[in-house]
Amino acid sequence: EINKIVDNINAAASKISNTLSDLRYEQNKTKFIIENVAQGIIALSGQNRVLVSNDVIAEIFETRANIVGIPIDYLIKDEKVLGEIKRAVGAGENVTAGEISVADKYYRVDCRIVGDEMFEEFKDIKYFLLITDVTSEANLAKMRSEFFFNASHELKSPLTAIMGFSELMMTPELSEENRAQCAKDIHESSKRMATLIEKMITLGKLDSAQYAEKKTEDVDLRKISEEVIKRLKVIADSINVTMSCEGEATVKGDPNQMYTLISNLVSNAIKYNKENGTVLVTLSQTDDTVKISVKDSGVGIPKKDIPRICERFYRVDSSHSKTSLDSNGLGLAIVKQIVDDYGAELKIDSTTGVGSTFTIIFKR
Ligand code: ADP
Repeated sequence: EINKIVDNINAAASKISNTLSDLRYEQNKTKFIIENVAQGIIALSGQNRVLVSNDVIAEIFETRANIVGIPIDYLIKDEKVLGEIKRAVGAGENVTAGEISVADKYYRVDCRIVGDEMFEEFKDIKYFLLITDVTSEANLAKMRSEFFFNASHELKSPLTAIMGFSELMMTPELSEENRAQCAKDIHESSKRMATLIEKMITLGKLDSAQYAEKKTEDVDLRKISEEVIKRLKVIADSINVTMSCEGEATVKGDPNQMYTLISNLVSNAIKYNKENGTVLVTLSQTDDTVKISVKDSGVGIPKKDIPRICERFYRVDSSHSKTSLDSNGLGLAIVKQIVDDYGAELKIDSTTGVGSTFTIIFKR
């Protein structure tokens, strides 16, 4: 009889132990999931006070790990987002309450209501807030809108010139000489627009990685550099700039992209040079690397501008350019995009009044 009772007690004890370990397992599993998601998670009471939060929340809001009991207004200051959270909780609606910015970063705040049927089990948790880092999406959207703004602005000035000159050409009393000048100006402005559009198309193609797999050909960089120099000679001659090329190198890539790369760097080296200046293209290679460097004796770039000159449409000072070559702030953006696409590195050394050296280093 006693043995039977002992057996029953043992069976009950083992059942309790199993249940406890199941519970512990469930608890650990939940904890593991909450602590290992990239999102910040906060569980809140009906009084908008924190009941549970994960480490990501402490990182985002730079608080101590345990913030149980503090009101949500302490973390989220944005009135609009707070208002939307409180409204959604009142209405029992799951919503995206909006975006907040904390220390230069942007986060989306989603609100998830715990249904009445779950309220008991969730031990007073009324709703959850999920905080997702959307900084890169927000920056991308900002870049895109800036790009459109800048692009339309850049296109507008030559277009305004074309409209003005063509209107002038319609004046009957205009002399033949002035009419010819107007036609020339219209031609120049349309050329500027065409160059700009061509550069925008190049960037668009690079963005959509259409050239991604075209990196198989052995490209003779010496041959390309000489072609570039030959094409730009007339313009360089106009301000008495001498160009030369030294060394040899071959890279696996797309010849058109290599041409664009060298051509954009050499054009800049001429554009921002001084009368009687020099441009030197140096090519070299080792077992591991291929180097292209373009050195000029030009105006140089102020230190503070160097980190930004590869941004789309960024110009230090358009009045620097002394040649007929256009300046639209896209040349280096294209160079940087190609360099990144090849996993290469772009180095810029410059001293104002002395000159600049742009070096591209490819890994072999
Ligand atoms: P842009 O069409 O204006 O030349 P880039 O993107 O090629 O556009 O260059 C961005 C800016 O960087 C230029 O407007 C110029 O101010 C500066 N820059 C580029 N290359 C040089 C250089 N070799 N020497 C001095 N300044 C340069």
